[in-house]
Amino acid sequence: METRPKKSLGQNFLLDKNIIKSIVNIGNIKSNKSILEIGPGTGSLTEFILKEKPKNFFVIEKDYNLVKLLFNKFNNKINILNEDILNFNLSTLSKEKLIVYGNLPYNISTQILTKWITNNNEFETFKQLILMFQKEVANRIIAKTDSKDYGRLSIISNWRLDVKKEFDISPNCFFPKPKVVSTLLSFTPKKKYFNITDPRNLEKITKIFFNQRRKMIKNPLRQLFKNPYMVAKKLNLDIDLRPQNLSPLDYFKITKQYEDLID
Ligand code: SAH
Repeated sequence: METRPKKSLGQNFLLDKNIIKSIVNIGNIKSNKSILEIGPGTGSLTEFILKEKPKNFFVIEKDYNLVKLLFNKFNNKINILNEDILNFNLSTLSKEKLIVYGNLPYNISTQILTKWITNNNEFETFKQLILMFQKEVANRIIAKTDSKDYGRLSIISNWRLDVKKEFDISPNCFFPKPKVVSTLLSFTPKKKYFNITDPRNLEKITKIFFNQRRKMIKNPLRQLFKNPYMVAKKLNLDIDLRPQNLSPLDYFKITKQYEDLID
């Protein structure tokens, strides 16, 4: 069996037991919760999650060799799916809300986060997300308005999730060692969030603004609206500001305005 870690699948396995335990503890599984782990790899987190006796436990792993390994290790104690999370629709997986653990390749973490936020059906299935990111990317997700890291990821995540930084994880905790420091973030769905009809419009709007990060917002506004000055006035936006100076709420309102006008 091929067991050499595959770079193409971002395989950096967690070795440090204390870190593994701290990650598992975040989900507070004791009270009979349903769990989904994505990219379980060789099962280091899986093993400790299982000790907490979750009510249901699903894992989704893309690498067939690792799926075989997991099957030998855990047998039928967990539900193992050999799928690519990017092409898998989670909405029908479980009737109960899920706590999701994912120590995934860094680029995939951001992709699935955006995918889930913008897909109402999938989003409904979450109770909590506990995901690993490259530190720089995590900083962008938690960044505040006016800071250099602030951008699309902060705005889109902030729309319907409360985000918490848990802790940084040193490359030494993994095998093979990644080149960068990791940060673990946890996300919980907000009870109340700004009403946007199609979340993809928020993606679109923020893309247009932040593609022109250094320009004044009158430029993207012109691109989006026939009457940009009227929109700016209505939303109380100073058109000489830059994209990073607008709050997430400003972006939600711009998106709403956009949706109202294209209807
Ligand atoms: N969670 C494990 C493994 C981390 S390595 C640990 O902490 O030790 C990342 C894992 O994600 C690998 O097992 C890799 O095969 C898997 N993976 C990569 N891309 C994936 C995808 N698109 N869908 C599902 N799993 C994926």
